[in-house]
Amino acid sequence: MSAFLEIEGLTAHYGDFKALFGVDLTLDQGQTLAIIGANGAGKTTLMRAITGIARVTGGSIRLAGRDIARLPAPDILTAGIAMVPEGRRLFPSLTVEENLQIGAHARKGSGFWTLERIYTLFPILRERRTQPGTALSGGQQQMVAIGRALMSNPTVLLCDELSLGLAPVVIREIYAAFPTIRQSGTAIVVVEQDIGQALKVADHVHCMMEGRITLSGRPQDLSRAAIHDAYFGVN
Ligand code: ATP
Repeated sequence: MSAFLEIEGLTAHYGDFKALFGVDLTLDQGQTLAIIGANGAGKTTLMRAITGIARVTGGSIRLAGRDIARLPAPDILTAGIAMVPEGRRLFPSLTVEENLQIGAHARKGSGFWTLERIYTLFPILRERRTQPGTALSGGQQQMVAIGRALMSNPTVLLCDELSLGLAPVVIREIYAAFPTIRQSGTAIVVVEQDIGQALKVADHVHCMMEGRITLSGRPQDLSRAAIHDAYFGVN
């Protein structure tokens, strides 16, 4: 059986600058995949290429057999790929609930995720639902950003640097939501600079350097030394 999301030979450019050099990646339904790598490795660009924000200049991205590589970003969201962007990017003048409802605009028909289910996943958001998103702590804002993406009922959820700037206890609280998200049938891709966190949540890990995947495997099969070398570019 072919994978649910299949990326082959993906290249992307910013103007003349080539940021991705033939990335191959597959994701099965309900799987969690982690992409790790140092600053500038191309992790965010890969997320942005998948979601139609960065300019794809070669290769293919197939979602359930359909090539979505050159679709406009809103069509990719409607096709079932939602992103939690680095920095959360909430709408500052909107309340928590309004921010969540924005995510629902991209959904087709009914699906698992509703406001009620987001509030069950992150109960603090129910208490804060009438407050502006920006009045929340960083961790709570991250929960809103995840909830907003889930409200489109995605089949693939891309999460860019969820841990950034958050205390370990808050990071644990956010990652504790992952099993429920997976059970809803959504596959997850996390981009993480926090290698320990990535190894904990993922079924499969890819390490990127300079726009290429340099190491792939299941967490239990990858040695610390191999990950260290792939991450820092030691040969
Ligand atoms: P970080 O953890 O810092 O976000 P990253 O692995 O996500 O790093 P990218 O942000 O994808 O890396 O950057 C990959 C390369 O593309 C880097 O060399 C970066 O300087 C370049 N780059 C990223 N965004 C742009 C842009 N908007 N215009 C030009 N070059 C860019």
